[in-house]
Amino acid sequence: MTVPNMPPSVSLPTHDDVAAAARRLAGVAHHTPVMRCNTIDERLGAKLFFKCENLQRTGAFKFRGAYNALAQFSDAQREHGVLTFSAGNHAQAIALSARLLDMPALVVMPEDAAASKMAATREYGAQVVTYNRYTEDREAISRQLARERGMTLIPPFDHPHVIAGQGTAALELLQEVPDLDYLFVSLGGGGLLSGSLLAAQALAPRCKVIGVEPETANDAQQSLRAGHIVRIPNPHTIADGAQAPSLGELTYPIIREHVEDIVTVSDQQLIEALRFFAARMKVVVEPTGALAFAGAQAFSGEDDGAKLLHGERVGVIVSGGNVDLPRYSRFLAD
Ligand SMILES: *Cc1c(COP(=O)(O)O)cnc(C)c1O
Repeated sequence: MTVPNMPPSVSLPTHDDVAAAARRLAGVAHHTPVMRCNTIDERLGAKLFFKCENLQRTGAFKFRGAYNALAQFSDAQREHGVLTFSAGNHAQAIALSARLLDMPALVVMPEDAAASKMAATREYGAQVVTYNRYTEDREAISRQLARERGMTLIPPFDHPHVIAGQGTAALELLQEVPDLDYLFVSLGGGGLLSGSLLAAQALAPRCKVIGVEPETANDAQQSLRAGHIVRIPNPHTIADGAQAPSLGELTYPIIREHVEDIVTVSDQQLIEALRFFAARMKVVVEPTGALAFAGAQAFSGEDDGAKLLHGERVGVIVSGGNVDLPRYSRFLAD
C-alpha cells in the first residue's frame, strides 16, 4: 500500500519488517526483562507481564527504531550522517545509534530543553543545534540543515524503519509470553503502537492491542472517531514523550486498521503509576513510560459490575525511564 503525502517509494511497513529489524538489533539492543508483580495481579485479578523498556539502552524503546533506521543507510548516507529534531528520547537514541555505526549526528532541540537531555545527547557524540520554539519552526530548520549538509532526516515516529524497529519490543514480549489476551502500549505519535500492532498481527492475532494516551493529548482517540488525523498542538501533560501534536501519515492508517481501542489517563493516574513502579517493583519509570500501565488499571475498572481484565493475561510495555531526578522526586513526594 502506498501512502498519500509521502514519496511514492514509501509504503507501510509489515510484520516482516519487524522481524528483519529484530535480526538487525540482535546483540545491539538489550533483550529487556519481563517483570511480574503479585500485588498488582491480585488487585486486578489478572496476570500482568511488564516489558521493561525503561531498561533499554538510552533508557527507552526509541533506541530500537533509531538503530534500525540508521543500520539501513547507504555508504553515501552514512558519510554525511543523520539529522533529527527531538527534545527527548529519540534524540539520545539517534545519537547513540550514530556513534555505534560511526556516522555524524546532528540534533535540533529547543533552546529551553532539559539540560540533562541536551547533555546526554552531546555525551553520546551528537552535535546539538538549538532553536526558539516560540518563534522558529523546527521542521523548516531541520530540512534546511539537512539540505545544506547532505544529512538524512530520521523523524521520531513517522518512518517505516522507525516503526519496524519499535515493534521489536512487543515482538520479544509476545515470543516470551505467548497467548496474551491484551497488550497495552503508550501512545504519542504512534510509532511504538504501530510497530506493536504489526508484531501482534503475526504472532498473536487474537491479542487485543490497546493504545494509551494522556487525556489532554487524546488526538489519536479523536482521530479514530473523526475518521481523519486530528491535531492537538502543545497539549499540557506531564507525559512529555506523548506531546506529538498528531499521528503521522504512516502510523495513522496502521492504528486505524488494527487497534482494538484507545484509552486515556490523567496526570494524577500517571503519578500513582510512577509511585507503584517505585514502591512495588523498584523500577524508575518516566511519566510517559507509565501510560500503558495506568491505562490497563483504568481499563480494568468496573464495567457493568465486571472487572474487564479479570482472568486475562495482559502485556504492558513500560516504554521509558528518563526523568530528571528533582522532577521525579516531586512526583513521588505527596
Ligand atoms: C516517544 C515515547 C513514547 C511514544 O512513542 P510514539 O512512537 O511517539 O507513540 C512513549 N513512551 C516513551 C518513554 C517515549 O519516549
